[in-house]
Amino acid sequence: MVALVTGASRGIGKACALKLAEDGYDIAVNYNSNDAKAAETVAEIEKLGRKAMAFKANTADLKAVQQMFRDVQKEFGQLDVLVNNAGVVDDAYLLMINEESLSRSLDINIKGYFHCAQQAALKMMSKKHGKIINVSSVSSILAVEGQGVYSATKGAVNSMTATLAKELAPRGITVNAVAPGFIETEMLDQIPPEKLEEYNKSIPEGHFGTAKDVANVVASLCSSAFDYVTGQVIVIDGGLSL
Ligand code: NAP
Repeated sequence: MVALVTGASRGIGKACALKLAEDGYDIAVNYNSNDAKAAETVAEIEKLGRKAMAFKANTADLKAVQQMFRDVQKEFGQLDVLVNNAGVVDDAYLLMINEESLSRSLDINIKGYFHCAQQAALKMMSKKHGKIINVSSVSSILAVEGQGVYSATKGAVNSMTATLAKELAPRGITVNAVAPGFIETEMLDQIPPEKLEEYNKSIPEGHFGTAKDVANVVASLCSSAFDYVTGQVIVIDGGLSL
């Protein structure tokens, strides 16, 4: 079994890659710029006894994504799972949103997911088997001031999950999403400490989640126990959105 995880050089993507490797998958590790971190992920997967290779590609760039899927096919010969995870956040209140940041978020968080889902579906359809997991965010259902752009992109991820699930069900492909709350990764470094403290207090479980918490759910969705589940968004937020 082979899984391609986008944005797997660190954070949630890396945790998903390692958990899927533990579960027996060979892993294609996608990343954007951090060669050293991607190489670390590959080495850690290899230590688990699985095959792994790093594929540098900006998911917002369709041509780069097409080439990556050709390379993955050449190196691994098949594709069973896509974890659409590569994403960016750039918080700004409405009047502070700039065009460059807006385009970057829409390109990576929305277009990037479509690019990869399209290429993955092409490969999976021929075998009538595959699983696509989209990493959304609790911000898709919970209004957080300053996250207008980010929440809009993650709302789009939820909508595409439902539509693609319906389109691809007859082809034997399930499409689900996970919506993490606050997860301890480098992404949180962008939030001021006093804000983080405030957010922490509003989580019923009393603490932020870990990348492993998300990876465990992603891996479960990839297992046969979830073969009859499609089009769903599973919230992983310690109760934050309740
Ligand atoms: P992170 O620590 O910032 O890591 C981002 C990863 O995505 C890195 O591997 C990065 O590669 C890669 N990446 C960024 N832009 C890319 C592009 N254009 N093409 C390919 N790869 C790209 O982020 P994270 O916290 O793990 O977040 C992962 C996903 O979870 C995102 O979709 C995010 O929106 C979602 N999420 C995170 C949280 C949270 O609290 N952390 C909560 C909810 C949802 P390089 O290392 O090469 O730059």
